[in-house]
Amino acid sequence: MKIVILSRDKELYSTKKLIEVGLERGHSIEAIDFLKFDFRIGKKTELIYQNLKLEKIDALIPRIGSYFLQNGIYTVKHFEKLNVFSTASSEGILLSNDKFSSIQMLQKEEINLPKTVYLNSINNLDSAIKFVGGAPLIIKILNGTQGLGVILAETKQSAISIIETLYRTQIKFVLQEYIKESNGTDIRVFVIGNKVVSAMKRIGKKGDFRSNIHRGGTGEKIKLTSEEEEIAIKTSKIFNLNVCGVDLLRSKKGPLFLEINSSPGIEGIENYTKIDVASGIIEFIEENAK
Ligand code: ADP
Ligand code: MG
Repeated sequence: MKIVILSRDKELYSTKKLIEVGLERGHSIEAIDFLKFDFRIGKKTELIYQNLKLEKIDALIPRIGSYFLQNGIYTVKHFEKLNVFSTASSEGILLSNDKFSSIQMLQKEEINLPKTVYLNSINNLDSAIKFVGGAPLIIKILNGTQGLGVILAETKQSAISIIETLYRTQIKFVLQEYIKESNGTDIRVFVIGNKVVSAMKRIGKKGDFRSNIHRGGTGEKIKLTSEEEEIAIKTSKIFNLNVCGVDLLRSKKGPLFLEINSSPGIEGIENYTKIDVASGIIEFIEENAK
Protein backbone atom coordinates (compact mmCIF):
# COMPACT_ATOMS: atom_id res chain seq x y z
CA MET A 1 0.00 0.00 0.00
CA LYS A 2 0.96 3.60 -0.42
CA ILE A 3 0.61 5.35 2.90
CA VAL A 4 1.23 9.03 3.59
CA ILE A 5 1.82 10.47 7.04
CA LEU A 6 1.02 14.14 7.28
CA SER A 7 3.65 15.38 9.65
CA ARG A 8 5.68 18.55 9.80
CA ASP A 9 8.63 16.90 11.47
CA LYS A 10 10.14 13.70 10.13
CA GLU A 11 12.36 13.43 13.17
CA LEU A 12 9.52 12.96 15.65
CA TYR A 13 9.58 9.55 17.29
CA SER A 14 5.98 8.78 16.31
CA THR A 15 6.61 9.60 12.64
CA LYS A 16 9.85 7.62 12.50
CA LYS A 17 8.29 4.63 14.21
CA LEU A 18 5.30 4.53 11.86
CA ILE A 19 7.62 4.69 8.85
CA GLU A 20 9.84 1.94 10.26
CA VAL A 21 6.91 -0.37 10.94
CA GLY A 22 5.22 0.42 7.61
CA LEU A 23 8.39 -0.37 5.66
CA GLU A 24 8.90 -3.59 7.61
CA ARG A 25 5.43 -4.66 6.62
CA GLY A 26 6.19 -4.05 2.96
CA HIS A 27 4.42 -0.76 2.34
CA SER A 28 5.49 2.39 0.63
CA ILE A 29 5.23 4.94 3.42
CA GLU A 30 6.52 8.48 3.75
CA ALA A 31 6.02 11.58 5.84
CA ILE A 32 5.01 14.71 3.99
CA ASP A 33 5.03 18.22 5.41
CA PHE A 34 1.52 19.41 4.70
CA LEU A 35 2.69 23.03 4.49
CA LYS A 36 4.39 22.10 1.22
CA PHE A 37 1.12 21.40 -0.60
CA ASP A 38 -0.70 23.73 -2.97
CA PHE A 39 -4.36 23.08 -3.61
CA ARG A 40 -5.88 23.63 -7.00
CA ILE A 41 -9.61 23.43 -7.36
CA GLY A 42 -10.98 23.69 -10.86
CA LYS A 43 -12.92 21.07 -12.72
CA LYS A 44 -10.85 18.58 -10.79
CA THR A 45 -9.14 19.03 -7.48
CA GLU A 46 -5.40 18.67 -7.49
CA LEU A 47 -2.88 18.61 -4.75
CA ILE A 48 0.50 19.85 -5.84
CA TYR A 49 3.61 18.86 -3.94
CA GLN A 50 6.97 20.20 -5.10
CA ASN A 51 5.29 21.23 -8.33
CA LEU A 52 4.12 17.67 -9.01
CA LYS A 53 0.71 16.14 -8.67
CA LEU A 54 0.62 13.70 -5.80
CA GLU A 55 -0.15 10.26 -7.11
CA LYS A 56 -2.98 8.22 -5.72
CA ILE A 57 -2.52 7.02 -2.18
CA ASP A 58 -4.29 4.27 -0.22
CA ALA A 59 -4.21 5.64 3.28
CA LEU A 60 -3.50 8.76 5.24
CA ILE A 61 -2.17 9.13 8.76
CA PRO A 62 -2.70 12.76 9.78
CA ARG A 63 -0.44 13.96 12.58
CA ILE A 64 -1.56 17.57 12.71
CA GLY A 65 -0.46 19.78 15.60
CA SER A 66 -2.24 22.91 16.69
CA TYR A 67 0.15 25.43 15.11
CA PHE A 68 -0.87 24.95 11.49
CA LEU A 69 -4.24 23.41 12.15
CA GLN A 70 -6.10 25.08 9.30
CA ASN A 71 -3.52 23.99 6.71
CA GLY A 72 -3.69 20.47 8.08
CA ILE A 73 -7.47 20.46 7.94
CA TYR A 74 -7.45 21.60 4.29
CA THR A 75 -5.16 18.70 3.48
CA VAL A 76 -7.15 16.04 5.31
CA LYS A 77 -10.38 17.36 3.73
CA HIS A 78 -8.79 17.11 0.31
CA PHE A 79 -8.10 13.41 0.81
CA GLU A 80 -11.59 12.90 2.27
CA LYS A 81 -13.02 14.28 -0.98
CA LEU A 82 -10.97 11.68 -2.83
CA ASN A 83 -12.27 8.94 -0.51
CA VAL A 84 -8.82 8.08 0.78
CA PHE A 85 -8.90 6.05 3.98
CA SER A 86 -7.68 8.07 6.97
CA THR A 87 -6.87 7.32 10.59
CA ALA A 88 -8.50 10.64 11.56
CA SER A 89 -11.33 12.77 10.16
CA SER A 90 -10.87 16.47 9.50
CA GLU A 91 -13.87 17.18 11.68
CA GLY A 92 -12.42 15.18 14.59
CA ILE A 93 -9.05 16.85 14.28
CA LEU A 94 -10.66 20.28 14.31
CA LEU A 95 -12.98 19.62 17.25
CA SER A 96 -10.42 17.82 19.37
CA ASN A 97 -8.07 20.74 19.04
CA ASP A 98 -10.46 22.99 20.90
CA LYS A 99 -10.94 22.06 24.52
CA PHE A 100 -14.32 23.73 24.74
CA SER A 101 -15.70 22.25 21.52
CA SER A 102 -14.62 18.82 22.71
CA ILE A 103 -16.50 19.08 25.98
CA GLN A 104 -19.49 20.67 24.22
CA MET A 105 -19.62 17.81 21.76
CA LEU A 106 -20.21 15.34 24.60
CA GLN A 107 -22.65 17.28 26.73
CA LYS A 108 -25.68 15.26 25.71
CA GLU A 109 -23.94 11.89 26.01
CA GLU A 110 -23.89 9.83 29.14
CA ILE A 111 -20.31 10.74 29.84
CA ASN A 112 -19.25 12.56 32.97
CA LEU A 113 -17.55 15.85 32.24
CA PRO A 114 -15.71 18.22 34.54
CA LYS A 115 -17.76 21.40 35.11
CA THR A 116 -16.49 23.75 32.44
CA VAL A 117 -17.23 27.38 31.62
CA TYR A 118 -16.52 29.35 28.48
CA LEU A 119 -16.89 33.09 29.01
CA ASN A 120 -17.77 35.62 26.34
CA SER A 121 -17.30 38.44 28.81
CA ILE A 122 -15.78 38.83 32.24
CA ASN A 123 -18.83 40.50 33.73
CA ASN A 124 -19.98 37.52 35.76
CA LEU A 125 -16.72 36.17 37.08
CA ASP A 126 -17.91 35.56 40.63
CA SER A 127 -20.72 33.25 39.60
CA ALA A 128 -18.61 31.54 36.93
CA ILE A 129 -15.92 30.75 39.49
CA LYS A 130 -18.55 29.54 41.93
CA PHE A 131 -20.03 27.29 39.23
CA VAL A 132 -16.76 25.39 38.84
CA GLY A 133 -16.51 24.94 42.60
CA GLY A 134 -14.47 28.02 43.56
CA ALA A 135 -10.69 28.06 44.07
CA PRO A 136 -8.52 26.18 43.48
CA LEU A 137 -9.70 25.96 39.88
CA ILE A 138 -8.25 25.14 36.48
CA ILE A 139 -7.89 27.71 33.70
CA LYS A 140 -7.04 26.31 30.28
CA ILE A 141 -6.35 27.94 26.99
CA LEU A 142 -8.48 26.32 24.32
CA ASN A 143 -5.76 24.94 22.07
CA GLY A 144 -2.92 24.17 24.46
CA THR A 145 -1.17 20.80 24.29
CA GLN A 146 1.37 18.78 26.26
CA GLY A 147 0.38 20.54 29.45
CA LEU A 148 1.32 23.97 28.16
CA GLY A 149 -1.64 26.26 28.64
CA VAL A 150 -3.15 24.63 31.72
CA ILE A 151 -3.05 26.68 34.92
CA LEU A 152 -4.02 25.78 38.47
CA ALA A 153 -5.24 28.97 40.12
CA GLU A 154 -4.89 28.40 43.85
CA THR A 155 -6.98 31.33 45.03
CA LYS A 156 -9.97 33.20 43.69
CA GLN A 157 -7.91 36.37 43.47
CA SER A 158 -5.19 34.77 41.37
CA ALA A 159 -7.87 33.19 39.17
CA ILE A 160 -9.39 36.62 38.57
CA SER A 161 -6.05 38.20 37.65
CA ILE A 162 -5.19 35.34 35.26
CA ILE A 163 -8.64 35.48 33.65
CA GLU A 164 -8.43 39.25 33.23
CA THR A 165 -4.99 38.92 31.64
CA LEU A 166 -6.08 36.22 29.18
CA TYR A 167 -9.23 38.14 28.34
CA ARG A 168 -7.32 41.36 27.77
CA THR A 169 -4.80 39.63 25.51
CA GLN A 170 -7.64 37.91 23.61
CA ILE A 171 -6.45 34.42 24.44
CA LYS A 172 -9.42 32.06 24.54
CA PHE A 173 -9.76 29.85 27.60
CA VAL A 174 -12.13 27.85 29.78
CA LEU A 175 -12.54 27.65 33.53
CA GLN A 176 -12.77 24.14 34.87
CA GLU A 177 -13.52 22.39 38.09
CA TYR A 178 -10.27 21.19 39.68
CA ILE A 179 -10.40 17.44 40.27
CA LYS A 180 -8.23 17.36 43.36
CA GLU A 181 -8.52 13.64 43.99
CA SER A 182 -6.88 12.79 40.66
CA ASN A 183 -3.78 14.13 42.39
CA GLY A 184 -1.59 14.95 39.41
CA THR A 185 -2.50 11.79 37.50
CA ASP A 186 -4.65 11.03 34.51
CA ILE A 187 -5.41 8.05 32.27
CA ARG A 188 -4.36 7.88 28.63
CA VAL A 189 -6.36 5.41 26.58
CA PHE A 190 -5.04 4.54 23.14
CA VAL A 191 -7.83 3.62 20.74
CA ILE A 192 -7.44 2.06 17.30
CA GLY A 193 -10.54 1.32 15.24
CA ASN A 194 -13.06 1.32 18.07
CA LYS A 195 -10.89 -0.88 20.26
CA VAL A 196 -8.79 -0.01 23.26
CA VAL A 197 -5.31 -1.29 22.49
CA SER A 198 -3.35 0.13 25.39
CA ALA A 199 -3.83 2.26 28.49
CA MET A 200 -1.59 3.92 31.00
CA LYS A 201 -1.87 5.99 34.10
CA ARG A 202 0.30 9.08 33.89
CA ILE A 203 1.78 10.48 37.06
CA GLY A 204 2.94 14.08 37.12
CA LYS A 205 6.39 15.16 38.17
CA LYS A 206 6.56 15.78 41.92
CA GLY A 207 4.76 18.99 42.77
CA ASP A 208 3.08 19.34 39.35
CA PHE A 209 -0.67 18.88 38.95
CA ARG A 210 -0.14 18.11 35.23
CA SER A 211 0.57 14.51 34.38
CA ASN A 212 1.85 15.04 30.82
CA ILE A 213 4.94 13.00 29.92
CA HIS A 214 6.25 16.09 28.11
CA ARG A 215 6.18 17.92 31.42
CA GLY A 216 8.23 15.29 33.18
CA GLY A 217 5.46 12.86 34.09
CA THR A 218 5.88 9.10 33.99
CA GLY A 219 3.50 6.30 33.14
CA GLU A 220 2.47 2.85 34.19
CA LYS A 221 0.37 0.25 32.46
CA ILE A 222 -3.10 -0.11 33.94
CA LYS A 223 -6.24 -2.10 33.48
CA LEU A 224 -9.27 0.03 32.69
CA THR A 225 -12.72 -0.39 34.15
CA SER A 226 -15.40 -1.27 31.65
CA GLU A 227 -16.86 2.21 32.11
CA GLU A 228 -13.53 3.80 31.19
CA GLU A 229 -13.25 1.60 28.11
CA GLU A 230 -16.75 2.52 27.05
CA ILE A 231 -16.09 6.26 27.35
CA ALA A 232 -12.95 5.96 25.23
CA ILE A 233 -14.66 3.96 22.50
CA LYS A 234 -17.76 6.11 22.49
CA THR A 235 -15.78 9.34 22.19
CA SER A 236 -13.58 7.97 19.42
CA LYS A 237 -16.77 7.22 17.47
CA ILE A 238 -18.38 10.59 18.19
CA PHE A 239 -15.26 12.43 17.02
CA ASN A 240 -14.82 10.08 14.10
CA LEU A 241 -11.21 9.36 15.01
CA ASN A 242 -10.09 5.84 14.13
CA VAL A 243 -6.84 6.41 15.96
CA CYS A 244 -6.87 8.61 19.03
CA GLY A 245 -5.76 9.09 22.60
CA VAL A 246 -8.54 9.70 25.10
CA ASP A 247 -7.61 11.28 28.42
CA LEU A 248 -9.68 10.60 31.50
CA LEU A 249 -9.51 11.69 35.12
CA ARG A 250 -10.45 9.32 37.92
CA SER A 251 -12.71 11.35 40.19
CA LYS A 252 -14.97 10.73 43.18
CA LYS A 253 -17.87 10.70 40.71
CA GLY A 254 -16.19 8.09 38.51
CA PRO A 255 -14.24 8.61 35.30
CA LEU A 256 -14.42 12.04 33.70
CA PHE A 257 -13.63 12.79 30.08
CA LEU A 258 -10.83 15.34 29.85
CA GLU A 259 -9.80 15.54 26.22
CA ILE A 260 -9.24 13.58 23.04
CA ASN A 261 -6.10 13.74 20.91
CA SER A 262 -6.16 13.10 17.17
CA SER A 263 -2.42 12.41 16.94
CA PRO A 264 -1.56 10.69 20.20
CA GLY A 265 2.13 10.26 21.00
CA ILE A 266 3.50 6.77 20.41
CA GLU A 267 6.72 6.82 22.39
CA GLY A 268 5.32 7.20 25.90
CA ILE A 269 2.61 4.57 25.63
CA GLU A 270 5.00 2.15 23.95
CA ASN A 271 7.61 2.64 26.67
CA TYR A 272 5.28 2.27 29.59
CA THR A 273 2.93 -0.44 28.35
CA LYS A 274 5.26 -2.32 25.96
CA ILE A 275 2.43 -2.47 23.46
CA ASP A 276 3.42 -1.79 19.87
CA VAL A 277 0.69 0.69 18.94
CA ALA A 278 2.50 1.74 15.73
CA SER A 279 2.16 -1.77 14.32
CA GLY A 280 -1.45 -1.72 15.49
CA ILE A 281 -2.08 1.40 13.41
CA ILE A 282 -0.50 -0.07 10.27
CA GLU A 283 -2.38 -3.36 10.70
CA PHE A 284 -5.60 -1.43 11.11
CA ILE A 285 -4.91 0.34 7.81
CA GLU A 286 -4.15 -2.97 6.09
CA GLU A 287 -7.51 -4.34 7.23
CA ASN A 288 -9.58 -1.29 6.46
CA ALA A 289 -8.16 0.74 3.57
CA LYS A 290 -9.46 -0.40 0.21
P1 ADP B 1 -3.12 19.23 27.46
O1 ADP B 1 -3.78 19.23 26.13
O2 ADP B 1 -2.13 20.31 27.58
O3 ADP B 1 -2.60 17.86 27.81
P2 ADP B 1 -5.16 18.73 29.52
O4 ADP B 1 -6.51 19.31 29.59
O5 ADP B 1 -5.05 17.29 29.18
O6 ADP B 1 -4.29 19.62 28.49
O7 ADP B 1 -4.43 19.01 30.90
C1 ADP B 1 -3.09 18.62 31.16
C2 ADP B 1 -3.02 17.87 32.49
O8 ADP B 1 -3.43 18.73 33.57
C3 ADP B 1 -3.95 16.68 32.58
O9 ADP B 1 -3.35 15.54 32.01
C4 ADP B 1 -4.18 16.53 34.07
O10 ADP B 1 -3.10 15.86 34.69
C5 ADP B 1 -4.18 17.99 34.53
N1 ADP B 1 -5.55 18.51 34.53
C6 ADP B 1 -6.20 19.07 33.47
N2 ADP B 1 -7.45 19.43 33.81
C7 ADP B 1 -7.61 19.10 35.09
C8 ADP B 1 -8.69 19.24 36.02
N3 ADP B 1 -9.85 19.78 35.67
N4 ADP B 1 -8.50 18.78 37.30
C9 ADP B 1 -7.32 18.23 37.66
N5 ADP B 1 -6.26 18.09 36.85
C10 ADP B 1 -6.40 18.52 35.57
MG1 MG C 1 -3.82 16.12 27.82
